[in-house]
Amino acid sequence: MKTLRIEVEIPEDLRRDVEQGVYYCSGSIVASRVDRERGSSIEIDVLDEADPASLEQTVRSWIEQTIRSSLRYEATTVREWGGHDGFVATTEEVLGSPEIHGLGEGLVAYGPKLTRALRAIRGLCESLSEGVGADPFTLPAVATLEHMHRCDYLRQFPQLLSFVTHFREDFGAIDAYSLQCRNAQVADECVPSTDGTRPVKRVLRPAICYHVYACFDGGTVPGKRPFIACAHGDCFRYESRNTTSLDRLFDFRMYEIVAMGSEAGVRDLRERMIEEVSGLLERLGLPGRVKSSNDPFFVSGSVMMSTFQRAQDLKYELEVPFPNREGHLAVASFNLHQDFFASRFAIRTDDGAVAHTGCTAFGLDRILAAMLVHHGADPDGWPASSREMLRLPD
Ligand SMILES: [Zn+2]
Repeated sequence: MKTLRIEVEIPEDLRRDVEQGVYYCSGSIVASRVDRERGSSIEIDVLDEADPASLEQTVRSWIEQTIRSSLRYEATTVREWGGHDGFVATTEEVLGSPEIHGLGEGLVAYGPKLTRALRAIRGLCESLSEGVGADPFTLPAVATLEHMHRCDYLRQFPQLLSFVTHFREDFGAIDAYSLQCRNAQVADECVPSTDGTRPVKRVLRPAICYHVYACFDGGTVPGKRPFIACAHGDCFRYESRNTTSLDRLFDFRMYEIVAMGSEAGVRDLRERMIEEVSGLLERLGLPGRVKSSNDPFFVSGSVMMSTFQRAQDLKYELEVPFPNREGHLAVASFNLHQDFFASRFAIRTDDGAVAHTGCTAFGLDRILAAMLVHHGADPDGWPASSREMLRLPD
């Protein structure tokens, strides 16, 4: 292992993204540290076989491209509230809990107490949904490439994708693979050859709301009051070496409330969600703040100027203090997509206009992780008020 130090100016709001994103540049990068104070360099620990000169060139040009294509602005905080100070449990204590079973990189199973707590957190999301008259949907965890291409996800976030394939209908190929596994001494010898498999046509969904738009393909929603859908389930994002704790899992659980309707209706619902979700977390005993975010989902190099100008207002994140390098964790986001998805899926309001859409997304594992570090690794010890609110049994 060797350490490579690259002198490069990194703007303050991109330091975290650069530190976490650099892993996708090369498999030989095993650790990265950006000088968070001054942002004048990045240090990366790399495997011995890596060629430092070419790696430095790759990392430099990636950082330059990231700076060029990202939106520059000052984040604004629209809400902030206190709560209890400091942390009751460290992330190590949380991960050491007998209720958490690590089942591979970014894969966790929860035991009964944490499963009940997670279900209760989802229950709070269900109550919010009911409060706004949302209709529930059941959606698949897999999405076709065609669908995700229409959502423009493939072009924007290819590094996060997980592809799904299967064997061709071919007895020879299937039988040969079975034999390969029978003779395998270690799991690595069970990796299938691509000769026998179909070209990849599907991915694991990275978020919930994409399927909702597909359900309304060519459809109409009310213009007066938005149509509101809710759904939840496992989502998948490949986080490379950033997957070290509960805050970044490969397979994680999301709950989304999705609105489709007039611009004003969708925006009003988002304002209401910001208020209600903030209040909810405050009552759970979690401090936090809601901030505009510089990661609106479809802004990239070729974006229209109007979107650029308004992008500051498109995405807000609810952050809870967390014992990680950033000092906080985003547990929910409040997003406006303008007419982006509705134009891709020809969704109109009943007065004929292209609809607007927006979503409120909850990272259920992240809310659980926040509860665990703020109130203790064992939910039995959580404050009575939080347990009562979650309706956890005494
Ligand atoms: Zn969404």
